[in-house]
Order: sequence, then C-alpha cells, then structure tokens
Amino acid sequence: MSVAVWDSNYRHPVSWRTAFEALPVFELLDRTAKRIPDAPCIDFLGRIFTYETVAGLVDRAAEGFRRMGVGRGVKVGLFLPNCPQYVVAYYAAMKAGGTVVNFSPLYTADELAAQVEDSETDIMVTLDVAQLYPTIAKVLDRTRLKTLVVGNLGEVLPGGKALLYRMFKQRERVKFAIDAAHVNFKSLLDHGGLAAPPAIDVHEDIALLQYTGGTTGTPKGAILTHANLSANAQQVDSIDADREAEDRILGALPLFHVFANTCVLNRTMLRGGEMVLLPKFELGAALKTIHRRKITAVPGVPTMYQSFLDHPHIAKYDLSSIRVCISGGAPMPAELKARFEAKTGAKVVEGYGLTESSGVVSVNPYEGLSKDGSIGQPLPGTTVVLVDKDDPTKLAAPGDSGEITVSGPQIMRGYWNKPAETANVFVDGRLRTGDVGTMDAEGYLYVVDRLKDMIVVGGFKVFPSQLEDHLYANPAVKEALVIGVRDAYLGERPKAFVTLQPDTAATEAELLDWLNRHVGKHERAVAVEIRTNLPKTMIGKLSRKELVAEEKAKAAAR
Ligand code: AMP
Repeated sequence: MSVAVWDSNYRHPVSWRTAFEALPVFELLDRTAKRIPDAPCIDFLGRIFTYETVAGLVDRAAEGFRRMGVGRGVKVGLFLPNCPQYVVAYYAAMKAGGTVVNFSPLYTADELAAQVEDSETDIMVTLDVAQLYPTIAKVLDRTRLKTLVVGNLGEVLPGGKALLYRMFKQRERVKFAIDAAHVNFKSLLDHGGLAAPPAIDVHEDIALLQYTGGTTGTPKGAILTHANLSANAQQVDSIDADREAEDRILGALPLFHVFANTCVLNRTMLRGGEMVLLPKFELGAALKTIHRRKITAVPGVPTMYQSFLDHPHIAKYDLSSIRVCISGGAPMPAELKARFEAKTGAKVVEGYGLTESSGVVSVNPYEGLSKDGSIGQPLPGTTVVLVDKDDPTKLAAPGDSGEITVSGPQIMRGYWNKPAETANVFVDGRLRTGDVGTMDAEGYLYVVDRLKDMIVVGGFKVFPSQLEDHLYANPAVKEALVIGVRDAYLGERPKAFVTLQPDTAATEAELLDWLNRHVGKHERAVAVEIRTNLPKTMIGKLSRKELVAEEKAKAAAR
C-alpha cells in the first residue's frame, strides 16, 4: 500500500526526538566546546584542533569581523576549500551577526562575479592559492567586493608540512600581488574575543545564503535562518540511535554544499565528533585517511563509494572502522550499496534533501531497516505530502506517484530578492521539490522521476538551460536542447541536440569540443547530435520531453 501524507511529528518511534531547539548556529559549536573542550574537533592533514581551540578562534575572528563592520545584513562570502579557515570564518561571521554566502571553489570568474552582485557580498574570505586568489583578483574591479580576507594554508598545516608549503610558496613562480588593502586572515584574530555579541533573532536573521539552480536553473540564494540550520543538524543527529557514538567523520564532501554543511559540519559540532577534513576529494588520500585515522562515518555521493571499490589497491586499506556511510545527492544503486556493505562491513544509509531544506529531508534509519532504492523516511518534525504532478494543490491519487512537497523547521524562508520564484516554489506552505516520488505504508520514500530539468551528474547538479546558453553563443547553432542521459558510472550526463543556422557546416564533433571547452568538468556533454528539427510544444516552445523519452527507449533496447 502506498500513502500520500507522512507526518513524522506523530508517526515516528518515540525514541526519535521531534522537538528541536531554535539555536544560533554557532551555539552548536560553543556548547560542545564547553562540554568537551579538549576533545579533537578538526584534523587537517594531521594537525589537530580541539573544540576549545576552534571555539576560541571563532570568538576572536567574530570580533575581527565586527570591527570590519560585519553585523546584521552584512554578507561574508566564503570562497574556500575544506580547511580550518572555512570552519572558523563560517561560525565567526554568523557570531558577529552577519550572513555567510557560500561560493564554490570551482566557480569561474563570471559565476563568482554574478553571485557577488546578486547576494550583495562585500567581504570575501579566500586562500592565497593558485585555484582561488587569481579568480577573485579578476573580479575585484567589476564587482561590489570591498574587502578580501586572505588566509594562508601554511598557517594551519602541521609543522613539517607547513615548512614544505612555505618553501614551495617561495619557489612558486606566480606571486600574488596581494594588495595591502586586503586583510590577512591571521590579523582577524588580533583583537581578543568578541567584545559585544549581537543579539541574534534565530527565526529572522539569515545565517546562510546558499545558491542553487532550484527548479529552473537560474541561480538564486536560498534564505536559511539560524533556526533552519540548527534544526536540520538536530534532526539528522536525532535519528542516530547509537547515542554514545562520537564519530570520526570523513570531511571529503565540500563544506560549501548544504549536504556537508549539515551532515559533516553542523551535525559533528553538535555531537562532538572529530571532522577529518580533506581540502578536496582525492581517492588515494581519502582511502589512506580512512585507514590511518580509523574513520567511522563517511558521508558521500554514490560515485565516491563506487570509486573506492574501483581502486586497484583497495585491499591494502583497512576500511573496517567505518560504521555508517550516509549517501545522498543522487540515487544510490542497490547493487553498489550491497557491494560496498559486503566489502567494508559498514551500513550504507541513503538520504535525500535539497538546498532549500538546509540539506536533509529524509533518511533511512541507522538502526533498523534501510530499504534498497528508498531515500528513507522523513526526518522527525518533517511532513511530506505527495501532490498531483499537474495540480500541486491536490493530493496525489492513492497508489500514484506525486511531486514531493515538504514542511518542517529546516525549510528555507524563500529565495533572496526573488518573490515570484519564492511564490512558485511553495504550495499551501510546503516546499515543492520538483522531484517525483512514491511513499510506502511505513513512510519510506522513493524518488521515481524529476519534474525539474536538473541533471544530476554524480551528485553535481547541471542545468540544461545553462548548457543551452553556451550552445546558442556558437554562431553555427540555431536551436539547442540539452537533456540527461543514463551513464553507468555517474548516473546521468548531459547530451545536446541542435539544429544549425543555414549555410553552416559545423560538425557534431566540433560542436561537442566547443561546448566542453566552455563548461566545467562535470558539465561536459557526452555528445552533440545535429537534427533537422527539434520537438516543440503546441505553442512552439522547444520541448525536451520527447527527447528524454527517445533516449530512454534507446537505453532500454540496448
Ligand atoms: P541540491 O539542492 O544541489 O542539493 O540538489 C537537490 C536535488 O538532488 C534534489 O532535489 C534531487 O533531485 C537530487 N537528490 C538529492 N538526493 C537524492 C537521492 N538520494 N536520490 C535521488 N535524487 C537525489
């Protein structure tokens, strides 16, 4: 039997807490620092920072930010990989009363500039490394950015590595002309602890502006309050029945994305575990870290677990310390889950969520039945309602699939400066996810389709409209449509279909090469197909639906 409504406020086992404290986000860290000051909080490439140290750095950086003018309404951008400076700046900006804006370190200069302007970010925190600083430097003159706070990796590495890093930096040919007007991250810490902590209105003050393409692909900032983020951390924590467990959690997922922001960062700070941060996901380093540090929890996307299994020397590494893997961001194939569990003895639990839900909506239980192919049950305090795909004001018919809509303390307030998009994404007070699901009688959800045009490439989100815009910039292209096609490893990859302008002789290979040179690595298309015409709706709009059906039929026939 399937159901359309699951209100976990009353249906969850009593052991699942359903009331959550609406806390300022940095309280998650501060409370744990008071409880277990000497416990390890961050391991960064071998250097350990205790809870007391991290909370102390946050307090001082908050005072540094306050002196720089950070307070209610002021945005502090983070253009950083996973590193201690990320953690310190994140909580410190919030503690000073400001709003954090996450910027992906993979952004091009144009993407960065557009988000700086849209979010009204005046202060940006970054590192003096080749992948980041030159990108920021390029946009300084053409954006509203006023202050750069520049950190140095050498300052957070353990002794030996710090020495090597400094030598490498000295030899590095590209010297960054870091302007004296910019602030050294270290000098943020010069003034002692926060002198006058501002009052935080947890339900109103924006803790985080988190950018997403949402259902349309146009980048927009999801407004996440302190109450949203602290609730989601508590919700995720509350379903872990093994209350004694203090995890050593692998921080390989990027903290700038909501999944890791909640499941790696905020939840660990609340629980008191140790975050073993990797600046980026690198397979060998990840396996070595699990082996050496006896990692107990590995949040990841399915392709990450697949890459572990594919590693030619996996047998060299002892992975038996892992108790749980939280998989999310993309569908977890049942066969991969079974193989990974057999290899490691760990339990793989799949979860689901989106930027607009502070990260997590549903998850399979850690203890108890984790159903294959299911994204689990709605978190405590969360109500999921499946609605009619054509009319979201109506419930889905019994037994039918429907669009997943969600309410709960973790759901965003709306999109930054986008009232029309905000109005469209809510129905009867619930968030429309653009994902289509079914729900069994025990409240286990299954994602069966997507209404939105997003393509999920190994957990990375790619929007067809953005690739189509690139194609239209090629003078040979008259019309363009991009869809997701199945890929054995990444789940999906983009494929483009185009018609050509008259009298042009571009080939499919040339257009593919051209497109892939203009987009990020995970956005690269598998093929460009030239057609004489493309499917259109009754009113003449280009339509992807027919192409999706065609590709599905082709894949089924293979
Ligand atoms: P983002 O806002 O970037 O986190 O993307 C959220 C989207 O990722 C969701 O709306 C889903 O389409 C997709 N997604 C996340 N987790 C899963 C999952 N476990 N299975 C299928 N799709 C997922």
